[in-house]
Amino acid sequence: MADNRALDNWDFLRTPRQDWPLRPVAERVGDWGEVHATRRLLPIVADQASRCMDCGIPFCHSACPLGNLIPEWNALVARDDWRDAAERLHATNNFPEFTGFLCPAPCESGCVLGIDDAPVTIKAIEAAVAVRAWEEAWECPRPPERHSGRSVAVVGSGPAGLACAQQLTRAGHTVVVYERDDRPGGLLRYGIPAFKMDKALLDRRLAQLVAEGTRFRTGADIGGAAGAGALLTRHDAVVIAVGATAARELPVTGRELAGVHQAMTYLTQANRVQEGDYAHPPISAAGRHVVIIGGGDTGADCLGTALRQGAASVVQLDIKPQPGVERAANEPWPVHARVHRVSPAHQEGGQLVRDGAVQAGDRTGLPGEDALRDVRVYSAATVSFDGDAQGRVTALRLADAEAGTRRALPGTERVIPVDLVLLALGFTGPEPGGLTAPFALRTTPTGAFARDAHYAGGRPGVFVAGDAGRGQSLVVWAIAEGRAAAACVDAYLNPDGTTTLPLPVAPTDRPMAL
Ligand SMILES: Cc1cc2nc3c(=O)[nH]c(=O)nc-3n(C[C@H](O)[C@H](O)[C@H](O)COP(=O)(O)OP(=O)(O)OC[C@H]3O[C@@H](n4cnc5c(N)ncnc54)[C@H](O)[C@@H]3O)c2cc1C
Ligand code: SF4
Repeated sequence: MADNRALDNWDFLRTPRQDWPLRPVAERVGDWGEVHATRRLLPIVADQASRCMDCGIPFCHSACPLGNLIPEWNALVARDDWRDAAERLHATNNFPEFTGFLCPAPCESGCVLGIDDAPVTIKAIEAAVAVRAWEEAWECPRPPERHSGRSVAVVGSGPAGLACAQQLTRAGHTVVVYERDDRPGGLLRYGIPAFKMDKALLDRRLAQLVAEGTRFRTGADIGGAAGAGALLTRHDAVVIAVGATAARELPVTGRELAGVHQAMTYLTQANRVQEGDYAHPPISAAGRHVVIIGGGDTGADCLGTALRQGAASVVQLDIKPQPGVERAANEPWPVHARVHRVSPAHQEGGQLVRDGAVQAGDRTGLPGEDALRDVRVYSAATVSFDGDAQGRVTALRLADAEAGTRRALPGTERVIPVDLVLLALGFTGPEPGGLTAPFALRTTPTGAFARDAHYAGGRPGVFVAGDAGRGQSLVVWAIAEGRAAAACVDAYLNPDGTTTLPLPVAPTDRPMAL
């Protein structure tokens, strides 16, 4: 029911920012459920939405790759008009619950209120609207009214492939999604842990896509066991949305020792336990001394996973120096700045160390207070691993990294005992496979698949979307690229070369920066 209360846009003066509460650490590390206290969001969200100033030039809107109509749905939520808010939200975002739970919210960095106050809790409002839209059954399958008679293959079922498939199916094309894994979802399924986003949200969207007419073929490794060439004869267009999951390596002595693993191997197994594929993961942190190498999101996901598995100790190494708590001068508002952020997993690590539930590993290099708060060690360069007679890793040699060059500084070397090392060093691009030759794809200097301004790459009728063309990025960029590539495919398939589908980002668009 809409509330006709006149909003004076001054609520930001009266209402402080209130974040979506998290469940207590002791409770949440005992399960794999979502870290947020889900039911505690709705009561606060309308007041939080009323903090939006309707500022005239909403930088939040430009900072969101999807161009989400943030001030519009903030105003609707503040007036208790949730149904219209859900409609406006879905106008620009196929999967707002994915971004509502997972996005690092560059929009909040661009919020005008954030210049001298705490920004609006845009991401939490997005999550609340998305959750309510499903609860009220406003979100339902929207099959096309007519079929075009044209068919499209989408290779890869991550957020880019799914957004592209949904847009094209709704536009009337017959879409088949080919996925090499046994279940669709890409990194939403086997990369990102369930404590960040419940997999039921993914399954619900997949059911919606199926009900609209999108078909899924899992276990179809295109370019591997499943031939790539046949796709071009079977379909009128092919969208390559295979992600960028070729993991960066750490070429140091001892890398080959047992107990040193790529993060994605570890996270995939942990996610498969949640899917019911294993009772216990083949690689587990239970009772082990764990070092995570890499300071990004993947490292944080390893940390949260290791804590839930019952690690004896955990240290996360970041080769970069610790960022400041304030924006650096070269990253002014509205840029999404690199500042010291404490993710729920880092909060969990700090508290479990303070409580004595997890041992503190090496904290050298952190000021006293931080050493208690954080499991991260900054400016830390891994020199080598030591092993025992059975070839198992036993220790990690580490040194301070020189600022700039990141070289190990002589005389700073020390040793951490370890029996599980997780490499979370980022990704170099799409995995090498049999896609390049049959589709005539070219690789850019950064390792991604090249495409033109219309997302076309390789042979006529072949398009590239998501991390495969952009490099490892974010869910919000993947959805935006999937939508944009769908518009280009639709224009390619339509006899008059036009489309009415939205094109939120160009392949060359990048996050706001100086
Ligand atoms: C551990 C981890 C945590 C992350 N956490 C976040 C987060 O919290 N928030 C956020 O915004 N972003 C996060 N990201 C980034 C985000 O997940 C990705 O940017 C996003 O999933 C990219 O979507 P995509 O569709 O391009 O590719 P992907 O999600 O990688 O999906 C590609 C799909 O293609 C399939 N595929 C590959 N090759 C073939 C083939 N030859 N034939 C058939 N199928 C194939 C793969 O199996 C996969 O299912 C995270 C990434 C990682 C690795
Ligand atoms: S998708 Fe991300 S950037 Fe866009 S409004 Fe949602 S939280 Fe903000």
